[in-house]
Amino acid sequence: MSATTHVLVIGAGAAGSAAVRELAPQEKITTTAIIDAEIAPYNRTLVNKAVATGLIDTHQAQLPPLPGSVVRDSVRAVDPREQTVHLRSGARLDYDALIVATGSAPRPLPSGVAAPAAVDSARMTHLHSLDDALRVRAALAATTSPRVLVYGAGMIGAETSGILRDAGCQVTLAASSPVPGITAFGAAVAEQLARAHRRAVTTRFGHTLTHLDLEKNEVRAEFSDGHVATVDLVITALGTIAVSPSPWNGPIAVDHRLRSRTHDHIYAAGGVAVHESDGLTWRIDHWSDAEAQGVHAARSLLASIGLADSPGIYRPRALYSAQIHQHLYLAAGHTSHSENVQTTSIVPLVLTHERAGQLIGVSGLDAGAAVMALVPELHSSIESMPRAESTPSTDTP
Ligand SMILES: Cc1cc2nc3c(=O)[nH]c(=O)nc-3n(C[C@H](O)[C@H](O)[C@H](O)COP(=O)(O)OP(=O)(O)OC[C@H]3O[C@@H](n4cnc5c(N)ncnc54)[C@H](O)[C@@H]3O)c2cc1C
Repeated sequence: MSATTHVLVIGAGAAGSAAVRELAPQEKITTTAIIDAEIAPYNRTLVNKAVATGLIDTHQAQLPPLPGSVVRDSVRAVDPREQTVHLRSGARLDYDALIVATGSAPRPLPSGVAAPAAVDSARMTHLHSLDDALRVRAALAATTSPRVLVYGAGMIGAETSGILRDAGCQVTLAASSPVPGITAFGAAVAEQLARAHRRAVTTRFGHTLTHLDLEKNEVRAEFSDGHVATVDLVITALGTIAVSPSPWNGPIAVDHRLRSRTHDHIYAAGGVAVHESDGLTWRIDHWSDAEAQGVHAARSLLASIGLADSPGIYRPRALYSAQIHQHLYLAAGHTSHSENVQTTSIVPLVLTHERAGQLIGVSGLDAGAAVMALVPELHSSIESMPRAESTPSTDTP
């Protein structure tokens, strides 16, 4: 290996940008970030909160320019054996170490639910990208008080329903579960949010969307109980799935230092990474956690070539939040792998999530201070045990 280590970073959203910035001060490292040819890296959290409703324009959601080299292209495939990345343009780039930070994509509706005419129209969209936000903005501009069906009431669907209601839309929030959002929020929070949704918007919980079709200039949405809703716009919000180039074409399994479990010299961070640590298999797709993972992957890489101490085991503790109607949901750590959920306060609602006697997550509704006060306690008793990785390791990147 040459005196400098060349690190390629694929994707420059939360995780990729954080990794590039962490590596930037290192004189013995050169970085090249591969970023979308058409759209500069942006803060995805603003897509529904600000761009869709026209509070800001797309360029205002852009992230600050990255240090190091930037290639504007997208990665088609990685050849881990040759340590080469193949770009859509046909070009190839070699690497000494690679950080994959390609994030996630919206989970699609089951095939056959949406008729091709609806899929191809501007009246049906996810709300994941700036293009999606512009589609929503156009629908809002085209009609006074447009009728919007939001299908899926996890974090994004729940938050977006309130944002669009406040923007003057007639919102129907629908979900197949009678108490939606249990996976995202846990049962206690989901029940309170279901009540808040019923007060704020029209709800259709417990019925699956079975068919969507375009009729004249409207969308006809049919549900499993035979109900039909006619709306101006449908937003599907069914969660996310990890995206990555070949050979993974999906989630990338990483160890506790964010190294690929299957390929040497490769790290993954953010929404694309599936972690296995402390007996848990998990994937977290939140902005601050993705940033923290990007930093951790970079430090792990530096440790592998003797340029830093080992950052140790990655354990999530970044805060994430959603403003849903008048409520602030705030959480950190693992909130969906608990063996034991304790309600430490009913009003405001504060929940602690434990596993094997460890505090692994904390969440709450309108309980900002209480949740934040518990964050330093996360994983604390595991971390006070003697660490196996306290000295710099010098394995290859
Ligand atoms: C509408 C919306 C609102 C959200 N609000 C919040 C919030 O309030 N709080 C919160 O914590 N989280 C929120 N999130 C989630 C948060 O945005 C994500 O968890 C975060 O962006 C994940 O970071 P990432 O780096 O893994 O992926 P991203 O930030 O999505 O970055 C991945 C980058 O990789 C690029 N890429 C993908 N494939 C390739 C390829 N083959 N070649 C080159 N580049 C590629 C993509 O173009 C993208 O730029 C929200 C998400 C959405 C959709």
